[in-house]
Amino acid sequence: MADIIYTYNNNVYFNITNRCTCKCIFCIRNEHDTLGEAKKMWHDHNPSWDEIKAAIDAFDFSPYKEAVFCGYGEPTCAYDNLILAAKYMKELYPDIKLRINTNGLGELFNKKPIAEELAKYIDHASISLNAPNAERYQEVTRPRFENAFKDMIAFSKKAKNLFESVQFSVVDVISAEEIEASKALSKELGIPLRVRTFS
Ligand code: SF4
Repeated sequence: MADIIYTYNNNVYFNITNRCTCKCIFCIRNEHDTLGEAKKMWHDHNPSWDEIKAAIDAFDFSPYKEAVFCGYGEPTCAYDNLILAAKYMKELYPDIKLRINTNGLGELFNKKPIAEELAKYIDHASISLNAPNAERYQEVTRPRFENAFKDMIAFSKKAKNLFESVQFSVVDVISAEEIEASKALSKELGIPLRVRTFS
């Protein structure tokens, strides 16, 4: 069984699913099979709620101020378990801030609005902008959906008004000009941008 909860650089993360709607060209899953202190990141089967709950019950969260839904997959692809886990964490640890790292395509995948419910239990959202325009987004993110950029942007605009904070990210696999254009777009949307280094 792979790690459902793992630590990395003194932070704690949830790996609740390996499913994803994208095939990003920079995805760490293409390079490494483990991360941080995790022994195994690829699940033999995507964890059930009972397995996720057991992992939460067994883990000592006392040193942490934040826990992140991230993992080796897109957390909103396990939407019901994501909500159950976030809700349970808030019951057990109301002082721990929760963050989701998401590709922003969870509404497309789940075929329903999810931003409002997510923001009820999760404090912060980091959304993969990945590119400054629709064409490059399809090339860099390689989503299973056509024209997914506009849906990711629509989700981000909603999220901005619902979560305590929202941040965009791009990875420096795109050109310097594209990073500048991403900064301009982020500014226009009023969402700060983090530029991540490809590793
Ligand atoms: S959205 Fe995340 S998990 Fe999915 S392919 Fe992109 S980087 Fe990898």
